[in-house]
Amino acid sequence: MRQDLEPFNEPIFVTRPIVPNLDNYRNRLESVWEKKWFTNNGEQHQLLEKKLQQYLGVSNISLFNNGTIALITACRSLRLSGEVITTPFTFAATPHVLTWNNIRPIFCDIEEKSLNIDADKLESLITSDTTGIMPVHVFGMPCDTGKIQKIADEYGLKIIYDAAHAFGTKVDNTGIGNFGDITMFSFHATKQFHTAEGGALAFREPSLKKRVDLLKNFGIKSEDEVIMPGINGKMNELQAALGLEVLEYLDDEREKRKRLFEHYREYLKNIYGVICLETGRNVYSNYQYFVIRIEKEKFGKSRDEVHEKFKRYNIFSRKYFYPLCSDYACYKQLPSSSQNNLQVANKIIHEVLCLPLYGDLQLDDINKICAILSSFSNN
Ligand SMILES: *Cc1c(COP(=O)(O)O)cnc(C)c1O
Repeated sequence: MRQDLEPFNEPIFVTRPIVPNLDNYRNRLESVWEKKWFTNNGEQHQLLEKKLQQYLGVSNISLFNNGTIALITACRSLRLSGEVITTPFTFAATPHVLTWNNIRPIFCDIEEKSLNIDADKLESLITSDTTGIMPVHVFGMPCDTGKIQKIADEYGLKIIYDAAHAFGTKVDNTGIGNFGDITMFSFHATKQFHTAEGGALAFREPSLKKRVDLLKNFGIKSEDEVIMPGINGKMNELQAALGLEVLEYLDDEREKRKRLFEHYREYLKNIYGVICLETGRNVYSNYQYFVIRIEKEKFGKSRDEVHEKFKRYNIFSRKYFYPLCSDYACYKQLPSSSQNNLQVANKIIHEVLCLPLYGDLQLDDINKICAILSSFSNN
């Protein structure tokens, strides 16, 4: 440990949630209490649905109790079956929702630059059993939506985007929820916009709204009719009220993160062996994560060593998404999980590290984190 670099007094976590004013939240809850209406498309739910539809710039949206149930429901609503092609470099939920739908996940390698599914490698994985593609906008970086759509059109495949990291992101001024057949957003407390737990599906096709809303409420059509085997995916009033309050802070949070993000980049661009993930061309980023790659040969220390050493300074970075989903015990036997099929993913999985980023961090904190990181280098 270098003498002049003291550990932080308080732990610095990789993220902190937006915590809205409690009195304002209480005011909303009072109106819920008065109505004695806690779930099933209540007033707060209706209001949040409308506000998010506008905020995300999408034509249809349906709120859920969490992002995973939303994604499970999305697969059902499009009647996906057989095989769906996805990425191994994602959170566990992505391949698991396929498994919960009796669908076999087929892992496709990723691009080194964006860490997203490599659209050029999709075609070789398509079989007569393939019904869809489930790409992830990893760390909020948009996938190559044009190329993926072209392949899907050619083979008659559906596309469901996992946009858990991309709330508020725009490409060429278009909201990220406008691509593919359905886009899922997660409102988990670790995500930029949150409702403690929660999620949503966005889609263009208006007829899907009815089907999705039926599926998330047990398939109940009316008092006397249950027309499909639905699930309980409903967002409740306490979640929706929280979301309405959190939404008020979102633009400010983004601005603060943007400033910190740019400060990180400025500082780290001169450190040999540290690569910062780009935000992408023509992309209006939400600055959800600050992601670096550590090239051991150049930097002198591995990502794992950096991750461990940071802890001594009270800094808790995250090895998102280690291990690869294709290395989970439940998926490693799949032919598509072979290292040979996933060469880029298997390389970068040992290099990627998420550094702390949230609105309440100060520029001085970033300076210190970077100085500490730089002190680990052999250069
Ligand atoms: C957070 C996350 C999810 C799951 O969302 P929940 O709301 O926690 O169920 C899915 N995919 C990715 C990539 C995520 O990061």
